[in-house]
Amino acid sequence: MLDRRRLLIGSAGAGLIGLGGCATGPTAAPGRLPYAERRPQILPLRARMDRVFDITVCLRPFRAQGPRLDAEQVGDTLVVHNYGHGGSGWSLSWGSGTIAVRKAMATSPAEIAVVGCGALGLTAAILAQEAGARVTIYAKDLLADARSARATGSWTPDSRIALADAAGPKFGDLWEEMARISFKRYRRYLGLPGAPVEWADHYDLFDPSAPSPPEPPPTVKPLAFARYRERIRDITPGDELLPPGATPFPTAQVRRTSALQFNIADYGHTLMADFLAAGGRVERREFRELGELANLKQKVVINCPGYGARALCRDETVTPVRGQIAWLIPQPEVNYGLYYNGVSMLSRRDGIVVQARGGGDMFATATTMRWSTGRRPSAP
Ligand SMILES: Cc1cc2nc3c(=O)[nH]c(=O)nc-3n(C[C@H](O)[C@H](O)[C@H](O)COP(=O)(O)OP(=O)(O)OC[C@H]3O[C@@H](n4cnc5c(N)ncnc54)[C@H](O)[C@@H]3O)c2cc1C
Repeated sequence: MLDRRRLLIGSAGAGLIGLGGCATGPTAAPGRLPYAERRPQILPLRARMDRVFDITVCLRPFRAQGPRLDAEQVGDTLVVHNYGHGGSGWSLSWGSGTIAVRKAMATSPAEIAVVGCGALGLTAAILAQEAGARVTIYAKDLLADARSARATGSWTPDSRIALADAAGPKFGDLWEEMARISFKRYRRYLGLPGAPVEWADHYDLFDPSAPSPPEPPPTVKPLAFARYRERIRDITPGDELLPPGATPFPTAQVRRTSALQFNIADYGHTLMADFLAAGGRVERREFRELGELANLKQKVVINCPGYGARALCRDETVTPVRGQIAWLIPQPEVNYGLYYNGVSMLSRRDGIVVQARGGGDMFATATTMRWSTGRRPSAP
């Protein structure tokens, strides 16, 4: 029997570097290898323009007061709303769906309809099945064509989820419930073939001599987004300042953390396959107004139209917030993400996500894309 310490030392000696814990001081504890000898392999990103295979432009379905989760009666049909999750839709989907399904199942209906086949619709549909209902998804677009497919794919549960002064005093508790449920649920998708969900190291690079990223124009008032991340500090990894020379990055400071990421192509397939395997049905259909939901045979509907709520529910509280991504050809050997000087990179199995983050949250024009990639966006 090997104890954990001997196993780590033995593995490192055999060349399997990177498996040990982190001794960050200049002198390692007796019996432990110095940090620099155990550093993870960080292979170079081939960040060349000819490797950009797509540029997608999309909008986060943002509501200043946070997502809509109330229920209303439309004719003889109960409609439970589940939309407006800003930049946190994937991250909060399981928690938000749990709350919506709880409301939808209050009268124990045998059948439930779900409007929408994005992150929120698919997860709510699976949860409704698990709660015992037969579920049909009605949607104009399936996931690959829905806005959800254009997301970065990282665990960002409080990204543009609400404005600090518009979210009610109880929203923090609701957010925390959604975040904790979702985070726990994501453990089910770790370690699966295709890696629908996985952990990856993230490096935050800082150099005082680097030029600053663009500031928002002075005419644009910065948005004060609500921040709740501290509430779940007990379940999320912290970060650490790495000693100089511990990575190949040439910046003055390198901080490292671990982050959960969603490989949306595979994760989406997994969700759809799970839904269909559990007897779920999908029907392509577009609703012009909320009243049309009362014509469905199911008398309980979970409404997850995302940004489509503006038209479907005449809900102008849903507003667009920036979102453009340049996609580099995947490099499986690049198993980390990074942020440097207003540009972020996330290496997913289905593409490497590159985003410009400077210029403020409402700044999302072709100029931003050209600044990050040198190319114009090709998709609307
Ligand atoms: C660039 C970008 C990056 C992002 N990064 C992240 C991230 O890293 N992590 C994260 O958690 N979140 C992220 N988000 C946010 C996240 O993608 C969204 O919050 C989430 O996808 C919203 O999902 P949804 O299911 O509500 O909406 P959608 O994906 O828009 O799905 C709506 C569904 O409803 C259907 N529909 C709409 N109207 C009708 C109608 N009238 N009749 C019938 N069907 C209708 C649509 O066809 C579609 O199937 C990002 C968003 C963007 C734009």
